[in-house]
Amino acid sequence: MNSGDRNDRAAWLKGPSIKCSGLPEKLNRPWRLVLLGPPGVGKGTQAELLTRRLGACHLSTGDLFREAQHRSEREQTLAMGAALNFMKRGALVPDAIVWELIRERTSCLHCQGGFVLDGFPRTLAQAKALQVLLENERLSLDAVVTYELPGAEIISRLSGRRTCEKCMAIFHQTAQPPRIEGICDRCGGALFQREDDRPESIAVRLDAYEHSTAPLIQFYRNAGLLTLVVATGSGEEIFQRTMTILESRVKPTGDGSQYEQSAVFAR
Ligand code: AMP
Repeated sequence: MNSGDRNDRAAWLKGPSIKCSGLPEKLNRPWRLVLLGPPGVGKGTQAELLTRRLGACHLSTGDLFREAQHRSEREQTLAMGAALNFMKRGALVPDAIVWELIRERTSCLHCQGGFVLDGFPRTLAQAKALQVLLENERLSLDAVVTYELPGAEIISRLSGRRTCEKCMAIFHQTAQPPRIEGICDRCGGALFQREDDRPESIAVRLDAYEHSTAPLIQFYRNAGLLTLVVATGSGEEIFQRTMTILESRVKPTGDGSQYEQSAVFAR
C-alpha cells in the first residue's frame, strides 16, 4: 500500500507474510487495474503515478525478479535461479514460476486501496489463471489499460532507462534525468541499467510481447475491460490522459456512495 508520497512495495516484494505498511489518509474507492503494453512504453512509471494517486498497491512481477537478482545465490530457490536466467536474456519466465509468486501473494490483491498489476499477466494462460483466482477471491478488475507507442520510441525509451537499485524508481538519461547523475532523486540509491535493457535483450523482449502478450488485448477487449491510452508525451501527460479515461469509466450513482461501470470506454 502506498502512504503519502512513498511508493511502498515492501509487502509485495518481501513475501506473503509481510503486511502493507500503511493506509492512505483518505480511503478512496479501490481501483483494481492491469497495465498492458510493450516493454518500454512506460508502464512502470504510470504504475507508480497511479498507485500514488489512487493509494493502491503497485504489484510488479518484474520488480520481484529484479529484487531476487540482488540476493545471493544461496538465498535463491532453484526455480528463482532458473527464472532469472530467462529474464537476463529478455525471455519470458515460465508461467508456472510466475504463478507460484502470484499465488503466494494473493493477500496483496485484497489491499483496501486496490492494486495496479504491472507486467502481469503477460500470457493468455496467466490471464486465465488470474481470472479464476480473482473469481475465487470474489474480486474483479475495474479496467485493463493498454499503452500504445511507435516502435522507434520504444527502443529509445528502453536504452536510456535507468532504475534505482534500492527503491526501483525509474529515470531516463535524457527525458527524465536525475538531479545528480547516477543517483536516485528519491532515496539516494545508485541507478543502474537493467541487463534486459541492453540491445540484444530488447529484440527478444519485443518479440515475446508480440507473440505472447499482445493477444491479451483481444482477451480483455472481449471482457469489456480494455482501455486504450496513447503513450506519447511526458509521463505526467500520459498519466493525466489515463486518469481522465479511468474516471470516465465509473460514474457515481444516486447518493454518490456507490459506483457503477460505464461501458463507454470498453472497446
Ligand atoms: P518488466 O519489468 O515487467 O519489464 O519485467 C522484466 C522481465 O521479468 C521480463 O522481461 C520477463 O523476463 C520477466 N517477467 C516479468 N513479469 C513476467 C510475467 N508475468 N511472465 C513472464 N515473465 C515475466
